[in-house]
Parts: sequence; structure tokens; C-alpha cells
Amino acid sequence: MNNLYQHINENAAIVAQALDAHLKESTTKQRPVIHQENLEVLIERLQLDQHIASGDLSGEKLKQFVTDYLNATTRLHHPGFLAHQVAVPHPTGALGSWIDGSTNNAMAIYEMGPAASSIEYFMINWMLSKIGWKTVPSNQQLNPESLHAGGVLTHGGSLANLTALLAARSAQVPEFWKSGNPGNLVILVPEQSHYSMKRAAAILGLGEDNCLTLPADPDGRVQPSEMNQQIEDLATEGKRVMAIVANACGTAAGLYDPLPEIAHICKQHQIWLHVDAAHGGGALVSEKLRHLLNGIDQADSVVWDAHKMMCTPTVCAAVLIKDHRHLDHAFEQEASYLLHAKDQPGFDFISRTVECTKAGLGLRLFMTIAALGNAGLASHVEGLVEKAKEAAQLISSRDTFEVAITPETNIVCFRIGEDDDTQLEIRRRLLERGDFYISSTLYRGVRWLRLVFMNPLTTLDDIEQLLAEIEAIQQQILTP
Ligand SMILES: *Cc1c(COP(=O)(O)O)cnc(C)c1O
Repeated sequence: MNNLYQHINENAAIVAQALDAHLKESTTKQRPVIHQENLEVLIERLQLDQHIASGDLSGEKLKQFVTDYLNATTRLHHPGFLAHQVAVPHPTGALGSWIDGSTNNAMAIYEMGPAASSIEYFMINWMLSKIGWKTVPSNQQLNPESLHAGGVLTHGGSLANLTALLAARSAQVPEFWKSGNPGNLVILVPEQSHYSMKRAAAILGLGEDNCLTLPADPDGRVQPSEMNQQIEDLATEGKRVMAIVANACGTAAGLYDPLPEIAHICKQHQIWLHVDAAHGGGALVSEKLRHLLNGIDQADSVVWDAHKMMCTPTVCAAVLIKDHRHLDHAFEQEASYLLHAKDQPGFDFISRTVECTKAGLGLRLFMTIAALGNAGLASHVEGLVEKAKEAAQLISSRDTFEVAITPETNIVCFRIGEDDDTQLEIRRRLLERGDFYISSTLYRGVRWLRLVFMNPLTTLDDIEQLLAEIEAIQQQILTP
């Protein structure tokens, strides 16, 4: 322990150099984007046992370890990274994670991280204003009479969705907290909803079977014209709709649901509208793309992940609630305002979260945006969407390929031939080669290959090369 704080500079410099080399090798494609070795081989190579036994990870040993570690990572900065909705992190944002890890300010209470809390407060307001909601005056945070929005950062969109639905439950069924499930509650979610919705329904005590699917158009978007009928039918059955969820955008194909129409119906029936904008909320930062989220201000709650479109290191997700009081009531029914009323110069987020110890998630988001600037962030998001649209055109111009749907965001689903298993086998072989890392999804009942454009360095030439590889693999499969 006595040498704990020695060598910080030297060791940090070793890590910085290794990361620099790693980023260069990744961006210039000198190493595969993905290379999955056996777990036991890696445990051996990384000398985990030996390092724990000797307890002197520093200097040359640290250098060797970090190098081996980085060589066994999946390289998101590689232009062939097209698989998942995870940001290619901005290096300055990553420094935010480092500072946060080094200071360990568990900022859910203000006294455990005034800077981190202030930044979270500031970034929540930044996000609320992008939605068009009333931001939080610093002296009115806890005033139940004050009409403003509210929010909190959580460790990921799944937890954020759960938190938003907790707020919905508290607003719609306040007695639930004490007396439990009245037994007739349902949640209505899009056909293409993220699996965290079903999980949330189960965790909330509603039961997965009470997470029902909204009517959908042939592309899988919510079909508002059929919603009234569904809501009336459910009422006839004695069911009560606790919340309706809309996607902005969906996970599989990246489609945005028609928010104004859905919001109108929710208002008519006084049903809580939750908009899952975990991925697609990024479009709110762009004047050009914001129209995709028209109507989002009419929602009751919104979830928006910064670690998807916004270059922010994982994880950093926001739960945003139009009426802050519902968020404060999400975790206890008694008016919690008195409980908070400490004499302190800031505000405790702890009453709004599942978490007790919470990382200073706002710092990685703030430092990312502060490095890019508002305009830089907007052009990053626009660039990814533009690239996806161009790629979709390129793919559909080839006879061998079919594109599922014209992309609205940075996600492209396509396939070669008609066979579902072939798509999976192509993906498997692509990943084995390691030039490209793509995902696959079920959409409209069939299997598609799926590209998520997260890396600003991915070019159309890369996509040309990807298509050539896929065609070659298909030939191999057809003529073994
Ligand atoms: C990614 C995503 C989630 C889950 O968010 P995590 O941060 O991965 O937990 C939920 N909903 C949608 C629409 C998403 O794209």
C-alpha cells in the first residue's frame, strides 16, 4: 500500500502510450476488428494468476499486461466495426471515465461529489431542453409546487427504461408501492421493442405476459389508427393500461414510431407515454434530424443513452420525466421532499435511482460534448446517418443483395439470398476473418445481416469490400 501513489505519472504514461498505439492500429486496420480467443488461453496469456500473486503491476509488467489486454479487445475504433449500438468513444470523454474512476465520487448524494452532481444536473437540463421540456431551476429541484421536468443518469438504458416505468407506475397506480399489483395492469409496447421492456414488466411485478404488443404497420412501426380499438378491447376485458411505449427508434431496423399520433391517443385515454429513445435520441442534437422526434415533448418520460450515438464511453443513460414529481415518487410513495430537505448547497440524486453508489456518469458525457462542441456533435450524428443511407443505396444497387428498408437512422438491414441460416453462417465466417464485425437481427419474420454505423471512419469503400467478402463467403457456402 505504501507505494500506492508512486509512479502514477509513469504508469499513466505507459497506459496512454499503449492506448495511442492501440487506436492507431485500430483506425488503420492493422489488426482485426474482432478476434475471439478461448477464455482459458486469455487468462493464461494475461497472466492473471501470476499478477495477483506478485501484486506489483507497474512499469514494464504493466506495459506488457496492457498490451496483451488491448490485443484481446474488440476494436471499436476499427472502421470495420459495424455491429452494435455502442459509441466509438471520444478519447476526451474516456478521460472523463478515468477521472471518475480515480476520484470515485459516488455522487448520488451531493456531499460525495459536488462537481459530479453539478455536471449531472447541468447535463440533465441540457437534455431536457433538447426535448423541449422545462428545465430544472437549481433552487426548485425539490419543490413539489414547481412545474418543471426532471431526470437522472443511470447505468444504462435498460435500467433507465425500468426507472421510467416505475415513475409511470407511481403516477398511474400510486397504491401499487404499498399494496402491490392490482392484477389487471398491462403495458403496451411496439412489436420492435427492446427486450428490456419485457424484463421491466416482469421486474415491476406485472408479469411478462402483461407486456402486450401494439398494432404495427407492415414495416413494424406502431400503427396509431388501430390503437383506440386495442385500448377499448382491453378495457372491456377489465384490463388497465399502465403505460404505452413508443420507439424512437427501434433496435432492429432503427425506425421511429409516429410520436404525435401516439401521444394524441395517450392523452385521450390519460395513459402514460414512454418514449424509448435510447438509441435514436441522438438525433435531437441535430437541426437536420430532429424532425424524426417531433412530438417527443408530448411524452411523459423519455430514455436517452449517451453511449450510443453521442461518442460517450459506456455507460451513460438518461431517464427524463416531464413532471419531476413522478420521478421522486418512483421509489417511494410518501412525499419524499421533506426527507431531502437538508441544508446543503446542492441536490441528492439518490432518491431517483435504483443505484445507491453511482458513478459520475455526467462527466464522460460532458467532456465528450465539450471536446466536440455542439456543432461537432451534430455533424457526427448526421454523418453516421448519411453514411448509412449511402450504404443502403450502394447495397441495393447490387443484384445479389436485398435491403430491408430505407434507413431512417444509422442502421441498415440487408441480406443475400433467401435462407435465414445462410445469413448467420455468413456472419460467423466474417467474424472469423476479422475484417468486419457486423450483427444480425430478426425483422419482419426473417433473418437479416445488420450494420450499425457508429464509427465516423467507416467509408463506402469499406462497405464495397464488405459486400465483396460476403459474396465470396456465399460462394464458398454454395460450393463447399
Ligand atoms: C440500446 C437500447 C436499449 C438498452 O440500453 P442499454 O444502455 O444497452 O441498457 C433500450 N432500448 C433501445 C431502443 C435501445 O436501442
